[in-house]
Amino acid sequence: TKTEHYAVFGHPISHSKSPRIHGLFAEQTRQRIYYAAQDVAADAFKAAADAFFADGGKGLNCTVPLKELAWQYAGRLSERARKSKAVNTLALQADGGIWGDNTDGIGLLNDLTLNHGINLLDSRILILGAGGATRGILAPLLEQHPACIAIANRTLEKAETIVNEFADAKLSCCDYAGLAGRQFDLIVNATSASLGGQLPPLTDDLLAASGCCYDLAYGNQATTFVRWGMARHARKSLDGLGMLVEQAAEAFALWRGIRPDTAPVIALLNRERQIPNSF
Ligand code: NDP
Repeated sequence: TKTEHYAVFGHPISHSKSPRIHGLFAEQTRQRIYYAAQDVAADAFKAAADAFFADGGKGLNCTVPLKELAWQYAGRLSERARKSKAVNTLALQADGGIWGDNTDGIGLLNDLTLNHGINLLDSRILILGAGGATRGILAPLLEQHPACIAIANRTLEKAETIVNEFADAKLSCCDYAGLAGRQFDLIVNATSASLGGQLPPLTDDLLAASGCCYDLAYGNQATTFVRWGMARHARKSLDGLGMLVEQAAEAFALWRGIRPDTAPVIALLNRERQIPNSF
């Protein structure tokens, strides 16, 4: 069998862990693939994707700032991708069509529930931020039958747009001041603030007793939000490395028809950065 080509497009992309993760998956499942990272800015996306598939490429991951463009690019969409208006995985189909999916939400869900045993049934969930990542994770979170999901965002209009689009009775939004006096069992940080050492203004009593914190961002050190959760005695305060590996595993399964075992890959990446992703 010949080696098939995959890539991740994004800007910036040089620090992406995706080539390493997919390389480890391929080794583990004995698949012959080549997976590269390519720096692609928004205005170059369509031409770069056309060229990639014309050259025989089989599948693409798309990250910041390309997920909405990838959603427009896909000829067919999974239901969760259609709803989220964001695509992180493109796959060439047998008839030449391009399938678009969003595996971010299922990646988060698998990390929360399977890897860390966090049950979302009847839980009060708060999502900070109303960008592409929030769009990607909403549908799979709503399917877990939480008590409610609140979205808090600096720019309230963006959160309102999402709430109107998803039109679910359990979903609401507010600005950060609107969180006063409320408590949540799970707080998900989907802002891009944490890696830069910043946080939205969060009150000290926002996290319910034995609640959990999850930062979609990750780095070689605990993020500002992970440390915020630890300081408030979160039952777990996790960063997004597990989600990254899980969303990649879903993409790999879509492309190759075989699902890799994520646990050894997460363990290896955690050893390499010398911090556990669970505090
Ligand atoms: P976007 O740029 O689409 O959205 C960013 C959001 O962050 C906006 O809601 C913005 O608010 C908010 N924000 C930025 N800075 C601040 C600040 N200083 N204070 C308050 N709010 C702020 O980003 P994405 O949604 O695509 O990504 C969000 C994060 O999730 C990133 O860190 C990304 O790396 C991570 N991610 C991780 C994944 C994983 O697999 N682990 C997968 C996908 C994303 P406003 O609307 O007011 O501007």
